[in-house]
Amino acid sequence: MRKLNVPIEDAIDVFDICISKVQNTDLKERLENCKPSIVTAVADYTTKAPRIELHTIATHDLINGNVTSSEMKKVYSDRMVGATAPGRYIYDKWRASAPNNICPLCAQRTTETLEHHLPKSKYPIYSVVPVNIFPACSSCNKIKLDAISNARETEPIHPYFDNVEDELWLKAEVIELKPASLRFYTIKSDHWDDIKYARIENHFRLFELEKLYASHSGEELAMNYFRINRLFETGGALSVKNFLEDSWLSMKDANINSWQTATYEALFNSNWYQEGGFKP
Ligand SMILES: [Zn+2]
Repeated sequence: MRKLNVPIEDAIDVFDICISKVQNTDLKERLENCKPSIVTAVADYTTKAPRIELHTIATHDLINGNVTSSEMKKVYSDRMVGATAPGRYIYDKWRASAPNNICPLCAQRTTETLEHHLPKSKYPIYSVVPVNIFPACSSCNKIKLDAISNARETEPIHPYFDNVEDELWLKAEVIELKPASLRFYTIKSDHWDDIKYARIENHFRLFELEKLYASHSGEELAMNYFRINRLFETGGALSVKNFLEDSWLSMKDANINSWQTATYEALFNSNWYQEGGFKP
């Protein structure tokens, strides 16, 4: 889970660009008339998101009384996503907006698509609203689909409004059985309330991060075997420990909640691993 900067684009500017080539005059007029409703909806969203109250926004089928959900969703799919769509450059810009193109939801895979925080199938008015759209990997996008929450505890982490990088929440422990592996889990910061932690736990479970991180850490252990074995043979367990500590501190400096940070902290704390447990 990584925080992203809110897009700088104005919701109505984006909407205007997307509908700029609508030929059907009736549809064009009905879409144009949606703009005041969109302005109100964006104000509601930006008020509620920091308060973790997005789940109180009602799902809807019609926008402004006469634009259907299907028509509004097409503003996104046909007029923003399409290869020659007028809004395509905005789509491309937003999709490339995450640092190193890393998905903010899993913090591991690369971004390939755009995710609607409030799904457009249930909240079509937010189909092309900037604060509701962020880049994500395809796997996280598929996992989330049209899921909506009905309580603060289950409200998904929002990359624009939530900061979960301020405290340590991701930990790992070495499973001391050969071959060595890691188990990842979450912890609650003393500075967090129960709702924030419940949301982290929910996110960790929903996006199957335990499995994802265990898989990548397993690869990391295999890739490090040669180096660790050589350190062990030349300087013993202490040399291994020193290397693990350096690695842990370096990863921690970059990101306290990455699986790499959790991995090296756990390895640093495992005498079993340093004393030969690293051998297959
Ligand atoms: Zn992802």
